[in-house]
Amino acid sequence: MAPEQALKLPAESRFDCRSSGRCCRAEWGISVRPSKLQQLAEAGLMLPVVQSDGGATYLGRGNRGCPMLGADNSCEIHGELGKGAKPASCQVFPFIFTPMPDGVHVSLSYLCPTVQQNLGRPLRDRAGELRATTQLVEQETVLTGPFQLTPTETVGYSGYCLWEGRLLDELGNRPTDKTFISAVRGLEQHASKFGRVPLEDHFPSQAEEISPKWLHAETKSLLKAITVEREYAAKTEPKNLTDRYLTSLIQRKLLLKQPTVLHGLLLLLVVQNTVHRSPFQPSATVAALELLLTHGPGYKVSEFPW
Ligand code: SF4
Repeated sequence: MAPEQALKLPAESRFDCRSSGRCCRAEWGISVRPSKLQQLAEAGLMLPVVQSDGGATYLGRGNRGCPMLGADNSCEIHGELGKGAKPASCQVFPFIFTPMPDGVHVSLSYLCPTVQQNLGRPLRDRAGELRATTQLVEQETVLTGPFQLTPTETVGYSGYCLWEGRLLDELGNRPTDKTFISAVRGLEQHASKFGRVPLEDHFPSQAEEISPKWLHAETKSLLKAITVEREYAAKTEPKNLTDRYLTSLIQRKLLLKQPTVLHGLLLLLVVQNTVHRSPFQPSATVAALELLLTHGPGYKVSEFPW
């Protein structure tokens, strides 16, 4: 990433690695570049690797996850050669960098139990270190907009930021489900005010078409996160975790990566609603979505800032 880009740090987020080993045991592949393999081999560490069909190289997995993970949850590469010798993805985790026109937005992966508990130093105190970490991340295309707000309307990035700021303020002050329902209704009324197609015609009867793969994966991961949260901190209210996770998805600009902002908002609403239903049930999710679309309270469109 370009070094001159401003870093946007979430004021409330904290993190310091406590070596839970969860990231090293996660089900994802740890990619490692050939140049890194070469460098480690020259330093005497031969890493077991596998290659994907596309030619990308990953660390092979043992019974306990990454083969470099020691019994005490420490990384063998880190222990022998230092943090900077680890594959880039290991050095970057759990930070997520989202480049946008106003700078690089920093968020955290909720797979990490320390992130779930919001423990460690505030991110705002770690700007220098995080700026250096961005250099390890491959350049991503910056989304500049205009963005599809509803199926028929677009919004510029600055307009979206005003709306997102309002949404995050509301999330901090009101129950999450009510905030999302209000926002969905607000967008719906905004669209219908200009004679647009009602949202119900776009979504509910085919709700399973709303990125079911994404929804399933996100909901499963959130359910897992809540289970872990209970294991690690029985006194923490799961609702707090859910709210923080959903806020983090918004800060990650997830709403701008869906077909429309409204579409993304519906997904978050459904995830929020579904998280209390375990195991995950697509039909219950669809029913919840229909219910919310039919019975959600109104919202004064004039309260939106555009
Ligand atoms: S290389 Fe080290 S940090 Fe990366 S996944 Fe393996 S044990 Fe964890």
